[in-house]
Amino acid sequence: MSWKYDTVDSIAASSAKCPNCSANIFFNEKIGKLVCSFCGGIYEPQTLAPTGSIANRDTGEAGDEENNKQEFICDSCGATVVTDDNTSATFCAFCGSATLIQRRLRREFRPDLIIPFKISKEDAINNYREWVKTHRGVPKAFREEATLEKITGFYVPFWLIDAECSTVITGEGMKRINSDTAERYNIKRTVDFKMKRVPFDGCKKISNLLMEAIEPFDYSELVPYNDMFLPGFYAQRYDTSALDMLDLISIRFNSYAMNLVKKFSASEYSSVTVRARGSHAGDFSQLYALLPVWFLNINYKGLNYSIAVNGQTGETSGNLPVNKRAVFWHSLLKAGKIALTYILFMLLISVPISYFIFKPLGWPYVTASMLVINVILAGIGPFVYGPFVAARYHRNKNEESVTLDQAPDMEEYIDYQSKINMENNDMFVKYTNKTTEAEEIDPLLMPKGGARNPMYLLFKFILRR
Ligand SMILES: [Zn+2]
Ligand SMILES: [Zn+2]
Repeated sequence: MSWKYDTVDSIAASSAKCPNCSANIFFNEKIGKLVCSFCGGIYEPQTLAPTGSIANRDTGEAGDEENNKQEFICDSCGATVVTDDNTSATFCAFCGSATLIQRRLRREFRPDLIIPFKISKEDAINNYREWVKTHRGVPKAFREEATLEKITGFYVPFWLIDAECSTVITGEGMKRINSDTAERYNIKRTVDFKMKRVPFDGCKKISNLLMEAIEPFDYSELVPYNDMFLPGFYAQRYDTSALDMLDLISIRFNSYAMNLVKKFSASEYSSVTVRARGSHAGDFSQLYALLPVWFLNINYKGLNYSIAVNGQTGETSGNLPVNKRAVFWHSLLKAGKIALTYILFMLLISVPISYFIFKPLGWPYVTASMLVINVILAGIGPFVYGPFVAARYHRNKNEESVTLDQAPDMEEYIDYQSKINMENNDMFVKYTNKTTEAEEIDPLLMPKGGARNPMYLLFKFILRR
């Protein structure tokens, strides 16, 4: 965690040589390491000690043993698909163009591993139909009238990346001793853990978000690549190396490391303030795998919607049109139900109060007192159910207008076989008499200016609702 940037700059400026292949290596500020774009070596800036490698693949000419494959190049968008000799492409799966140029395989095509298709074309279509039903905000006409233009089975090139991650958080904790004394601690926690086979698609034409949305794949079915899996399907050769994707890779690994902060247990404290957190990932390594995906192109009112179905698990996701008005009315209906429940509760409660409390107390006008109680309850009503309505509305709006699923949680890719190292270096500082000094803060929401930032306070206020 403690490299110095001035050292780094001077190394980069004098262009250090790669210890492995002697090419020039440069500092990559995203991962904080020196990277050789020639051989893929990754090095510690100060010591040049190797810390993993994301080797660049040799994409030399196709050899004789690859004579059983051909490729099609799209004349309009430039996409290339690889097929076996007996599978021909009649349209481009990416832009729909029918002008495809067929030729012998020119460049090498050698993935390490493959997960064969398990979901049939019919199953993929059925999964899509079931999935689209689960999105209430989608216009009915889309569900019933949109035409499934094309469905293509694709082996998508993925880099499966392993990395060592570490997270540090520091802050302040308070332990309440009695009503006016507390112990103050400086909190410092470190967690080192390993992530395994996090997938990144190496194809520019395929949306990373769409691929994340149909994760995870079941890696227990990864087998060494073999040409016999290819017939009947298309395959894409990678056009983005893992080195080209270091930015994306480091963003995802860092967000995993940050998510781990949420799992820090600090329950021994009555309150915790997080001051700083940091994370880094290193010791990268990669595997090159082809993973099966069905792509559905759906045409609706002149627009194209892309849906992906995981060809192994059947998980479906994609972009759908959203009818904002339907989402609004649906939320309003739910809000109405909450308000109605409250009114019913109000009417019911006013009867026993009038009969059994007010009447014995000498206020015999049951109807009048019921009316008074109802007026009062109606007045405070919005304050009682308002927050519920607001929360429901926000949840519905998000659920129904986002149709692309999120990538799976980090649990999916934590390597439980290697050690997860947690260090706790909390230190007692002093006794204090202000027990309310520190506030509990979700560190992931902490803006600049910390807990005093007005936006933060507002955000917290809204989230608490
Ligand atoms: Zn090198
Ligand atoms: Zn095309």
